[in-house]
Amino acid sequence: MQAQEYIDKAEQYLIHTYNRYQIVLEKGEGVYLYDVNGDKYLDFTSGIAVFALGYHNQAFDTALKDQIDNLIHTSNYFYSPKLGNAAEKVVKATGMDRVFFTNSGTEAIEGAIKLARKYAFLRDGHTNHEIISMKHSFHGRSLGALAVTGNPHYQEAFQPLIGGVVFAEYNNLQSVLDKVNDKTCAIIMETVQGEGGIYPASKEFLEQVRALCDEKDILLICDEIQCGMGRTGTMYAYEQYGLKPDIVTTAKALGCGVPVGAFAAKEKVAKALVPGDHGTTYGGNPFVVAAVDKVFDLFEELEVLKNVNTVAPYLEEKLDALKAKYDFIIDRRGRGFMQGLECNIPVGPIIQDALKNKLILINAGTNVIRFVPPLVITKENVDEMISILDAVLQNYV
Ligand SMILES: *Cc1c(COP(=O)(O)O)cnc(C)c1O
Repeated sequence: MQAQEYIDKAEQYLIHTYNRYQIVLEKGEGVYLYDVNGDKYLDFTSGIAVFALGYHNQAFDTALKDQIDNLIHTSNYFYSPKLGNAAEKVVKATGMDRVFFTNSGTEAIEGAIKLARKYAFLRDGHTNHEIISMKHSFHGRSLGALAVTGNPHYQEAFQPLIGGVVFAEYNNLQSVLDKVNDKTCAIIMETVQGEGGIYPASKEFLEQVRALCDEKDILLICDEIQCGMGRTGTMYAYEQYGLKPDIVTTAKALGCGVPVGAFAAKEKVAKALVPGDHGTTYGGNPFVVAAVDKVFDLFEELEVLKNVNTVAPYLEEKLDALKAKYDFIIDRRGRGFMQGLECNIPVGPIIQDALKNKLILINAGTNVIRFVPPLVITKENVDEMISILDAVLQNYV
């Protein structure tokens, strides 16, 4: 079949929620993707911060194949051999005590919201609590996660969402304080805002919010779905702030392409959920926990964090050079391999042009080019990316 036939067929039957690029991707190798015509693309998006290990990692693929040969699924009424290992690895990496596996990021957020509400219900003996979320945040598309997503445009047609959500300004303590009252049960935020434009939380802000939460027994939920799993140079971004949240959500790179998410919490919080309170058919099934288990092993073996910390300063340096060269680039922000170039022009056409030149990039909002490559990229990959992007940007002066 020709690419156009694949595209036409998909467009005939899918609900049209995406404007897809007219490219049919067929296979991947390392940091490159190949389409059905055999064209090769340098991928600086990794399936939106998912494929941390690079494509077609032999050891990962073999672990998945072995698991398929044994058992793909059983219900959560049973244990499977890798379940405890995978749970232990998430718990140790997050610094939490217990974890619940979900199928996606948005479900991890749903679980975190339910856990926070149940904790507050047991403590106070009533419901009707409030959650403070941040403007310009992104937490997912299911109704609970959408309710805490600070983007009115995504919410408008789907009201009413879950109630009891108020929004504060990110990196503005006073704005949070203005929203706190005795109904507040949780504050949720991305440690580094992703979709909203690659904004890291300031150290001062996160520390002050942590102190506020301690003082008032409010649960701090850090959404690490995009910035977690090594992307910013530590397994979880909050480690760099020297503090821990009470609940962590993780997904994206957690299964490196196998759909899995999780929410993890400290013991005193986690124990609020008891049998019957929450569940999932697929979550944490034998196939996905085999993936999670192997992902953590490979992070160690491939020294993924070391690579991020070695190559990211080089990426930053090269992006800063682009910023210095082009007037329309007004800022470079981010941590590790989660970087953004903010432009004073819409970046959609730039990303389209990069794609024509076989470089895959993604935006974060209308004005920010986002860089979330596989965590195994080399300096040579950075050079290759920069040379393609530089050539593209010259057409915008
Ligand atoms: C992607 C993302 C989500 C939603 O995850 P899905 O797996 O797409 O449901 C939630 N929060 C953040 C910060 C994300 O980047």
